Amino acid sequence: MKTIAILGSTGSIGTQTLDVVRANGDIRVAALAAGKNRKLLEQQIREFHPRLAAVADEADAKALRTAVADLEVEILYGEEGREAVAVCEEAEILVTAIVGMIGILPTIRAIEAGKDIALANKETLVTAGHIIMPLAARCGVKILPVDSEHSAIFQALQGEERRKIDKILLTASGGPFRGRKDLKGLRVEDALKHPNWSMGQKITIDSASMVNKGLEVMEAKWLFGTDLDQIQVVIQPQSVIHSMVQFVDGAVIAQLGTPDMKLPIQYALYYPERRYLGGDRLDFAKLGQITFEDPDPETFLGLKYAFEAARTGGSMPTVFNAANERAVSKFLNRKIGFTDIYEIIRYCMDAHQTIADPDIRQILDTEQSVYELIESRW
Ligand code: NDP
Repeated sequence: MKTIAILGSTGSIGTQTLDVVRANGDIRVAALAAGKNRKLLEQQIREFHPRLAAVADEADAKALRTAVADLEVEILYGEEGREAVAVCEEAEILVTAIVGMIGILPTIRAIEAGKDIALANKETLVTAGHIIMPLAARCGVKILPVDSEHSAIFQALQGEERRKIDKILLTASGGPFRGRKDLKGLRVEDALKHPNWSMGQKITIDSASMVNKGLEVMEAKWLFGTDLDQIQVVIQPQSVIHSMVQFVDGAVIAQLGTPDMKLPIQYALYYPERRYLGGDRLDFAKLGQITFEDPDPETFLGLKYAFEAARTGGSMPTVFNAANERAVSKFLNRKIGFTDIYEIIRYCMDAHQTIADPDIRQILDTEQSVYELIESRW
């Protein structure tokens, strides 16, 4: 019996993690953390009986305590609550399914406490990969990718030596605006219509802008220890190939499947065991063809700026990520247009003096100063 804790249990990845737990029946859930969705968290507490649960705010924590007074569960809130869930003694694996840079500190605490990390929160490696990866190695913990592309690469690498990687072929659907040359005037509803995947709002917008692929490039670099130049983004509109690895002998190994996040989630939870998972299977005859295209970084500037931020390194990926995070939130609230997301990222990157090897405090301070800069102008 495995025991896990989940940060962000009420979100897209969090609820699908609990679907995997429910379907398998042999994982214990020791702790859950959510943000504002108290009602869903209460249902999860009643179904999975964690010993500990956390919400974002004190008022929600009070209301939740009253609602689950008949159960033996401790309810905490805020940063303290998230960290308590992350280091919860019984859990062997922490699933980081929280959105944003708020995931960094609890992930570090969990690694220090010896927990393996099933990593969905890409902001952690994007901004602090230079701290997280060596720390995980020192603490002897595994970072198990949940992102479907990184899980695909991880699966393709089983039994292979990482130094024999020639390049990583990171696939992308291209999102709802693939093929367009003009992204002006696009509405929130249009950007939220992902052609293949059902995901949380923020990552869906990031897919439309291709910022998501940029974040994934940075995540891949840290996870698999490759140079940026060894990572090539390939548009594969059907989202059938989840990513590929080309080795030094020219062989390419890919992982294919239907677009279902439960596969990478389950693979991370049971690694190295591969388990049965219900659901649709690929029907190649029906599929007919799998097509490929080059990305268009001059239109989808998210990808171009991400490579630039990654090449600069240091605190620049934090600026890229934080500027995008705040810009996407403004776009979702209809305060700015779609292409303003790129403009905000560009403005913040141009204004930033890079810190070469930032510590966690400097990363979080950089995030804060980016938010302040954006608020002073937009
Ligand atoms: P969602 O927006 O669906 O869920 C986010 C989760 O974080 C929710 O449970 C939310 O709680 C919780 N949360 C937000 N703020 C806080 C807080 N202050 N304290 C505690 N919990 C908080 O996001 P996704 O599941 O889509 O994405 C999560 C992460 O996984 C992201 O980093 C994303 O990039 C990555 N990812 C997602 C994929 C997907 O298919 N969805 C694929 C690959 C990676 P509440 O709802 O209660 O407010």
